[in-house]
Amino acid sequence: MKYCIVLSVFVLLFAQCKTPNDVLPNVEPTGYYDTLGIHWTAVEKNNIIYYFHDFNSQSSFAAQYIDEHESAYVTINNVFNAKMPRKLRFFIWGDTALANQLLGHPLGFTTPTQCACYVMPGQTVGHEMTHAITYWGGGVPSIEYRRFINEGVAVAFDLSGRDRISMAKKAAAGQGISSIVELWDGNKQNISEEVFYPIAGAFMDYLNKLNESDKFYALVKDQSLQSAQNIYGKDRMDALIAGFNSQIGL
Ligand SMILES: [Zn+2]
Repeated sequence: MKYCIVLSVFVLLFAQCKTPNDVLPNVEPTGYYDTLGIHWTAVEKNNIIYYFHDFNSQSSFAAQYIDEHESAYVTINNVFNAKMPRKLRFFIWGDTALANQLLGHPLGFTTPTQCACYVMPGQTVGHEMTHAITYWGGGVPSIEYRRFINEGVAVAFDLSGRDRISMAKKAAAGQGISSIVELWDGNKQNISEEVFYPIAGAFMDYLNKLNESDKFYALVKDQSLQSAQNIYGKDRMDALIAGFNSQIGL
């Protein structure tokens, strides 16, 4: 005699609760990762794996942080079409002094070959991921690197919506710079971040707004001044540089 066992499966559906505006939805960790003597709480999403240094105190902003970064990745990657050898990782430090000590380098920074961004809360959403996305744009590493283009594109795609030209003007004032060529290919390539980044960012934003995406992309992959002259044409690049210099008061 055969007995049939009927298993009843009860599926519990939890309706998603609307949270009040001042309470963010919970973020569930998807794993843990120990490195540098730190127990990181991992949250893996479609585009990025997030590692939170101090998840308990950072969890209140984690949901928003993750949403903003997932969406920024899509926006920026639509331009550069990165194919990374591994998924991008964000290490979100809660203690910048400890990070500086353990990493030997101030936050934030990105090591594109390792597909890793080391960040602190309060950085712009797009800057660090742009370093990794542009490096792996098209699935091939950049050929030639210049600080001016590399930092410029990261500032231009930081998604902060800041007024680039007026920031660059302010940064350049009184610095004795006669042309951005000095920052790109001359003796001012190592000047301070506060002066360098806004100028480089405004220039890359200015080139991006020409809506010549193939040329812009080619420059990001091969960043020397000579490469820019080959891509845009020497006379045109000279004119673009002169036009930009005058816009920021050089
Ligand atoms: Zn940078």
